[in-house]
Order: sequence, then structure tokens, then C-alpha cells
Amino acid sequence: MAPRKLAAGNWKMNGDLAALDQIDAMAEAVKGASCDVLICPPALLIPAMIAKGVVAVGGQDCHAEASGAHTGDISGQMLRDAGATHVILGHSERRADHHETDETVRAKALAAHRAGLIAIICLGETGDQRDGGHTLQVIAAQLAGSVPEGATAANTVIAYEPVWAIGTGRTPTIPQIAEVHARLRADLSDRLSDGAEVSLLYGGSVKGANAAEIFAIPHVDGALVGGASLKAADFLPIVAALD
Ligand code: PEP
Repeated sequence: MAPRKLAAGNWKMNGDLAALDQIDAMAEAVKGASCDVLICPPALLIPAMIAKGVVAVGGQDCHAEASGAHTGDISGQMLRDAGATHVILGHSERRADHHETDETVRAKALAAHRAGLIAIICLGETGDQRDGGHTLQVIAAQLAGSVPEGATAANTVIAYEPVWAIGTGRTPTIPQIAEVHARLRADLSDRLSDGAEVSLLYGGSVKGANAAEIFAIPHVDGALVGGASLKAADFLPIVAALD
């Protein structure tokens, strides 16, 4: 089976109840879309966004435990209980702000799987790592360290997000994205029996103007979109380019 196509939005720490109007504005286009469309809003907006019934809804992080004394955290079970289907894990902002390691991400992915969530595991090199010629080595190590046993195409999505491309308006060249995605596909196929079917997303300054050329790259099955997912007018052209 071919990997599922996914247009995923990450609202990060943006949005309020009024911003849910943007989801209403997506309704018509999403209804006709053949790809999966997901938005991961701040956790407080998850129930209200799910109630709209327009897009699949996911969390932006979850704890490695199902419950317990972890003030301020949210578990995968809680996200699932609220109706979320996905959770973003290991985003570079969490790796930087919360010192998350591959081991942390792996434990969280296991918890997400136990809760019945699809884990979107993010990885990507820094600008220095790319300039130093270490991209493939970094990517391969993050993939090996972050993807847990039990991962399958049904419960795991991988998002390649070069740190230097997030929110900067800069993107890698087409051959650079192609090289990383080919390596991810090869490593996943070596490791998982259905590795050829795992959806591989590109993320980092995706917008309507560059989406089509990025989606034409082999082994790019969709996008994880930050800034351009906040407004229907910016996100829908990306969904249309994937469709
Ligand atoms: C992201 O935060 O995952 C992201 C890709 O952001 P942006 O699209 O704004 O670069």
C-alpha cells in the first residue's frame, strides 16, 4: 500500500476560540480532499476543534506516562480521551526548549502508541550540522533513537524538519529534501516490515507557493506546516497541492 498523504498543521502556542473560525473556513475544501488533513492546536482548543468535525485533531506533545504526578503535562491517554488521533513528538522547539532527547521522544512515542495515537515523530538537522556535512548522519541517528519498537505505518509518521528552515522562510533545495527522504525511506524499510508505507512529511517554511514542487519529490507524502496552517487562506492551497 502507498503511504497515506497527510497535510498537518502545527499551531504551536497560537490561537484562541475565535481562531476556530479558520476551521469553519476550511470545511468545504477539506470535505472534498482525498488526503488526510490534521490540525494540532494548543491542547485547550482540542475539544472545541474536534466538535467542529472538519479536520482530524492532534496534540503537540504528550508525557511518557499515562497519568501521575507530572504537573502541567498531558498524557497520550488524555489526548485520546478528548478525541485526538495524532500527537506531534520531538519537534525541534521541544527538543530545544525542554531538552528532549531521542530517548525522551522514543518513550513518548511508546506512550502515544499505547494510548492509540499516531505519533508524528519530528527530526532534522541544525544549520551547523548541515553546513558541516553531517545531515544524513544526524537524521539516521535521530530516526534510530526516536522510533520505538512496535512502530508501524499505522501508528507512526515521520516529519523531516530541518531546524534552520522552521519559521525562517528558508527551505532546503529539492535535491537536499530528496536525499533525506530517500535515506529515511531506506532506513525505515530496513527496520520495519511496512517501512515502505510509513508517511514521510517535510516541514519547514512550506507555503502555497512551494508546496507543489515539494510534494513532487519522491518519498514526500505530505507536510507538517507551522505558520501557514494558522489561516485557512494559507493552509488550503497546501492541502490542494497535496490532493
Ligand atoms: C513547524 O513548526 O513544524 C514548522 C514547519 O513551521 P513553519 O511551517 O512555520 O516553518
